[in-house]
Amino acid sequence: VSRQTLPIRAQLSDETVDDGFVLDDVPHLTNFLPDLPSYPNPIQKSQAYAIVKQTFVRPEDAVAQKIVVHKDSPRGVHFRRAGPREKVYFKSEEVRACIVTCGGLCPGINTVIREIVCGLNYMYGVDDVLGIQGGYRGFYSKNTLPLTPKVVNDIHKRGGTFLRTSRGGHDTHKIVDNIQDRGINQVYIIGGDGTQRGAARIYEEVEKRGLQVAVAGIPKTIDNDIAVIDKSFGFDTAVEEAQRAINAAHVEVESVENGIGIVKLMGRYSGFIALFATLASRDVDCCLIPESPFYLEGKGGLFEFIEERLKENRHIVVVVAEGAGQGYVAQSMHGIDEKDASGNRLLLDVGLWLTQNIKDHFTKERKMEINMKYIDPTYMIRAVPSNASDNIYCTLLAQSAVHGAMAGYTGFTVGPVNSRHAYIPISHVTETQNTVKLTDRMWARLLASTNQPSFLNCDEAIGGKVCKDTIDLINNMKITSI
Ligand code: ATP
Ligand code: MG
Repeated sequence: VSRQTLPIRAQLSDETVDDGFVLDDVPHLTNFLPDLPSYPNPIQKSQAYAIVKQTFVRPEDAVAQKIVVHKDSPRGVHFRRAGPREKVYFKSEEVRACIVTCGGLCPGINTVIREIVCGLNYMYGVDDVLGIQGGYRGFYSKNTLPLTPKVVNDIHKRGGTFLRTSRGGHDTHKIVDNIQDRGINQVYIIGGDGTQRGAARIYEEVEKRGLQVAVAGIPKTIDNDIAVIDKSFGFDTAVEEAQRAINAAHVEVESVENGIGIVKLMGRYSGFIALFATLASRDVDCCLIPESPFYLEGKGGLFEFIEERLKENRHIVVVVAEGAGQGYVAQSMHGIDEKDASGNRLLLDVGLWLTQNIKDHFTKERKMEINMKYIDPTYMIRAVPSNASDNIYCTLLAQSAVHGAMAGYTGFTVGPVNSRHAYIPISHVTETQNTVKLTDRMWARLLASTNQPSFLNCDEAIGGKVCKDTIDLINNMKITSI
């Protein structure tokens, strides 16, 4: 196309001017009078920001949730941009902060803890930071641990959480009583969807009691299932680590006759880890995720596909997310109603189920000699320290949370939206869940890369009921209560 034939669209920006700008407001400890908060931000004097050209983010600066818009579409929701504000709400010497970690493990938690402590101390001169140990129940049942830059100096090199974690035990009143008794005025809460719902309860109770306490959530979910934000920390590390398990499975099955490798990866309701690990690895022949029901027998089913690939390559690697095919698995097992301490439904082990079914089918029905290898690397993946990109990401999250709380914002979750860090009202991230959309291009890219069956005729193949059960199960899981 020659340059001259390109249409000139210089007027486009005029056509799309502000027709529906909605700023999704993050609560503030004041009623947000223009002059408040009133203290000058001490980072002006800190070494770190001494030569930064534009130190402060203007309070009215916003980040658009939807970045690709048609010229006629409304602009939609915007969130406050994260970052240091010119005026802060708290005097440094009056801050008493605390940090708590809840839910499952995820690479990078320790980096977030470290950077909150160091960020508060180095940028804002805050030296009173308490570690709440063992999750939410630690507020009322355990001693606290004073956190200084020295104490947390090396923790990012370790996996797990330095503060320990737990499920269940969220008693809003007892927690807020404790916050009040200890004179805490900044609460940093690191955890997944359940934890963020708990953080919202704490924020509501704090507000009800009229306490001047900033509540900041830092979303942690290895599955990448938190809505609105681009990606959760630890996800990259998990995908990278999953490669090692996939590679091991591939090496094993490539070395034997009719080798069938099954790798179970994390992903209770969202198959992002399985999807991205498959796309990254190229050693995977088939990827099964919770969002896409599948079936074993008959035309277009998994058995048929495995047999084809064995004929072609003499080996196959299948990746299965832990939440895949739950309705289907439940059909052949009893009871799906066990729950953990936080009220999350316990899943049936799809990996073992799949391995057994494939083995039975090929050895008993097809009378074929096969070599099954089943790998479940879940705990090995969760336990590693975060990789370089997650470490940087965790640092940004922690510093953004600190800037937000110091400026007096509360009831917010911090995270990147279209690669700009933003303050998002907690309710926004807990209302919905981020799942792989089968109608989006990413899933199509995976199907194109593996050339696996799409199982689109699942309804006919195994009866609409099982597929519907799977979908219902996934939907029900979203509403966990304690
Ligand atoms: P992950 O699922 O990634 O492991 P999570 O934060 O979702 O992390 P959960 O065990 O579900 O992990 O919840 C963590 C904490 O949040 C628990 O202490 C639990 O009591 C509390 N919690 C969960 N759901 C709610 C809720 N709806 N209201 C109040 N507290 C909740
Ligand atoms: Mg959860």
